[in-house]
Amino acid sequence: MNILVINCGSSSLKFQVIDTETSECIAKGLCERIGIDGVITYENLRVKSGKIKTETQIEDHKKAISLVLDALTDAGTGVIKSLKEIGAVGHRIVHGGEKFTKSVIIDEDVIEAIREVSDLAPLHNPANLTGILACRALMPDTPMVAVFDTAFHQTMPAKAYMYAIPWKYYDEYKIRRYGFHGTSHSYVSKEVAKYLGKKPEELKTIVCHLGNGASVSAVEYGKCVDTSMGLTPLEGLIMGTRSGDLDPAVVDYIAGKEGISAYEVDQILNKESGVYALSGNLSSDFRDLWKARHEGNRKAELALEAWAYRVAKYVGAYVAAMNGVDVICFTAGVGENDWEARALVYHYLGYLGIEFDEEKNAATRGEIAEISKPGSKVKVMVFPTNEELAIAKETYALVTE
Ligand code: AMP
Repeated sequence: MNILVINCGSSSLKFQVIDTETSECIAKGLCERIGIDGVITYENLRVKSGKIKTETQIEDHKKAISLVLDALTDAGTGVIKSLKEIGAVGHRIVHGGEKFTKSVIIDEDVIEAIREVSDLAPLHNPANLTGILACRALMPDTPMVAVFDTAFHQTMPAKAYMYAIPWKYYDEYKIRRYGFHGTSHSYVSKEVAKYLGKKPEELKTIVCHLGNGASVSAVEYGKCVDTSMGLTPLEGLIMGTRSGDLDPAVVDYIAGKEGISAYEVDQILNKESGVYALSGNLSSDFRDLWKARHEGNRKAELALEAWAYRVAKYVGAYVAAMNGVDVICFTAGVGENDWEARALVYHYLGYLGIEFDEEKNAATRGEIAEISKPGSKVKVMVFPTNEELAIAKETYALVTE
């Protein structure tokens, strides 16, 4: 079955068509600058059309989806002949609150419930909803599924998800830790088990999703028991431009010193912090940071060291949370591609009885590989994530139930 996977941002829309029989992405693209002017990039991967970029007015998400559907069915470069060849649509939804513990078929109640939790992700959920409504208007008879970034983490126990602040904030506003990147943590932990010939229920796994946004999760016998992101994706690791953990008193302190609002400090912590800030505003991209470090840039060096130290601290914490670990996985842009960053992290982990295969690590980029030696007490793996494929699989499973 062909599944259209939609990931809507406030002014962008990413899409892929995935053939669930082969797990292949047969077409993909991106609408950008929605509501400003508009650019759509489309690629038919079956005929290797190359990227086709068209500048055109995209006034809203409905127009964006209609352009996507036109591109997919175009007589020359389309990947399908008619929309009937799309069996279902899978929508990535950032926040499912406590309501959604797994993916669901979209109906009126689900739309209302996503709207209700929008307060928790005011930038993302409304955009995700716009995508759903636009798709429904244009493909009213095609089943649609909502796949939530937070759902996989809903198995966390209260001791892991509660903040130690007055109950009323949880009771009234549902302030607690939720975690994100759930589709990736779920996919990688399951696929790694499969790869190792085990069931997820047989393994304690730590997944390090290290991209521009980054999070670690502890997956005990197939269930997430802790993860590093919190109420929002700001908590936890040092990221591209996000600070990760810090003393919350910093917010008021900066606001007072600079005469700015808490909201403005929040923006700084989300958009102007992380390795970008530590490197002296050099870059949030690890390729630039390594280049600078090799040229002797001390701030770039500190950014990388602090980043790795934080990842290693979370791994250590999750070994404690699960009283052991069988597999540690690296995934996402940095985790899959950056062997030097992986080496920085795993040099902290020798106490776990890990025997590292330095050469294998240095040779591994963007592919499944075991980067610990065969006899190592704990396996360390690189395992590419594929959030779109995970969404397509979830969607297929639900609509064929
Ligand atoms: P993601 O958010 O998962 O797409 O990851 C994006 C980040 O991965 C980029 O900002 C880079 O820092 C990093 N990255 C991607 N490719 C490489 C590479 N070949 N070497 C080092 N870092 C990479």
